[in-house]
Amino acid sequence: MIFRIDDIGASTKRFEQYSKKKWANFWFLKKISPFKAWGPYKELTAEEWGKILPIFEKNNIKPIIAITASWVEKDSSLTPFPKKFPKEAAFLKKSFLENKIEIANHGLTHCVIGRHLPLFNASNRYFHREFWPDLDSSLHEEHIKKSQSILENYFEKPISIFVPSGNVWSIKTYQALKNTNIKKIISGKYMLDAEEKMSGIEFIDDHKNFISFHDRELKLFGIKWLERKIEESKKHELFQI
Ligand SMILES: [Zn+2]
Repeated sequence: MIFRIDDIGASTKRFEQYSKKKWANFWFLKKISPFKAWGPYKELTAEEWGKILPIFEKNNIKPIIAITASWVEKDSSLTPFPKKFPKEAAFLKKSFLENKIEIANHGLTHCVIGRHLPLFNASNRYFHREFWPDLDSSLHEEHIKKSQSILENYFEKPISIFVPSGNVWSIKTYQALKNTNIKKIISGKYMLDAEEKMSGIEFIDDHKNFISFHDRELKLFGIKWLERKIEESKKHELFQI
């Protein structure tokens, strides 16, 4: 089983706000329990990572940490991950260079810039996906190029895995990825708008052999939840043999 944690550094945790109950998407209701289905929640700290990573290590698991390269601010400006969360970034860099974790590209923004803020009486979930097929190929190109450059410059190591937000990506995303170090796309879905075969980039369906979750579960449910999750995965593997 491969463990993958998404949404590190993504402002989606702050701005994606919706409720599964349609009527509760009104104003602040979607922000509070028991109505809220997603955000807001806080970014994991370096101290929290310091407790999380040893659990993976103890169990001989090298998790994939999928980072969104920029935080989208309220005014739509972008702050690169290492600048927004310097201590967390430094901790992850050290762990990456020590080969304890794998770092994946989880987009530049995770969302459509300018459409990311919570809506007064509706869900904004749709806009918390980044690589919609109807967006210009120049946008796909720019977001892939910028995100790779932020991550690779900071981590000083090639980034070879791409995880599209919400399993949404397009043939335009693939074309943009062709000129990068990306070798694998891990997603629950193939490109939405084409069936074209890829060359030089492998598609990995995360329905099989993956335990994927978000920093949200770690933030809200803590270490005990993670330990339980790892135990379950071991039982599952035993069962499969
Ligand atoms: Zn995500």
